Amino acid sequence: MNQTLGSFTDAITGHPTPASVLYKGIEMSSLSLAERLWVQWYQYWENPVIATGVMSFLLHEIVYFGRSIPWIIIDMMPSMRKYKLQPGKIPTVAEQWRCTKLVLLSHFTVELPQIWSFHPICEYFGLTTHDVPFPSWFKMAWQIGLFFVFEDTFHYWAHRALHWGPLYKYIHKMHHEFSAPFGLAAEYAHPLEVLILGMGTIGGPFMLCAFTKDLHIITVYIWIILRLFQAVDAHSGYDFPISLHNWVPFWAGADHHDYHHMAFLGCYSTSFRWWDHFMGTDLGYKRTRAKEAEARKRAASLAQDGSAQKAVPETATTTALPVKTAA
Ligand SMILES: [Zn+2]
Ligand SMILES: [Zn+2]
Repeated sequence: MNQTLGSFTDAITGHPTPASVLYKGIEMSSLSLAERLWVQWYQYWENPVIATGVMSFLLHEIVYFGRSIPWIIIDMMPSMRKYKLQPGKIPTVAEQWRCTKLVLLSHFTVELPQIWSFHPICEYFGLTTHDVPFPSWFKMAWQIGLFFVFEDTFHYWAHRALHWGPLYKYIHKMHHEFSAPFGLAAEYAHPLEVLILGMGTIGGPFMLCAFTKDLHIITVYIWIILRLFQAVDAHSGYDFPISLHNWVPFWAGADHHDYHHMAFLGCYSTSFRWWDHFMGTDLGYKRTRAKEAEARKRAASLAQDGSAQKAVPETATTTALPVKTAA
């Protein structure tokens, strides 16, 4: 019993390990700037578990709130309303503040232990953490691509299950409190939802690591940064002409997820549109967007007709004037 408790404490607090041990045999001059900074971080803490725990938590906070700030500013700009997917529904300061408080509470109570235990779990699965050099860009790219596909599939089915009666009522309803989402609301959810859907984010890395024993935590960090960007942006409530889904048709983006919050049904996936397309859970979304496009077309042609009608008397006056003058 005491031995189990001891190894559990060891896994959480780690062991003091100086850099001379961690980086024995590594030629520092051969490392890139990013790799040298990485070494300095682990050198500073002299304990890989604490170094990874602090870095993981800081990274999550900085990226989540840092990425939400531009959306808060955009919400304050009336000139941006034309890009808002539900134009009349701008979040109030009170709503944003309430959301921030709950998200922070959740980060420090529910997510912190998960993030902290990430390192021991990584070690268990054979994921490298303090090691340098980093893997090649090519390896990072295909591994992150796999995580995107895994997460999207996991999220589609888990999210769809969360819309089932009791699960919706006791767990997922909280995330749907805002029918017009905003960036900060991405992680506004029940702790159990954070736990369930978070499995999609970290499940891919753990599975890949368990099978290949070839994954560096830097790849997982880049994946988590991209995943946080995806989640915050999908909740932003804005669709710009430069938004990714206008260039990459299978990317879901805010346009897809905003509909989910507005309609409460359909469009369950996170990054890609293919699961909703194949399972037919985006029919309502497609009908709504087609109707909106039709209404926009009609409004544009009415406006064109209106300006053409206005233009007729103007033309008549200008042509009449010289005649009159001449007369
Ligand atoms: Zn939902
Ligand atoms: Zn959402």
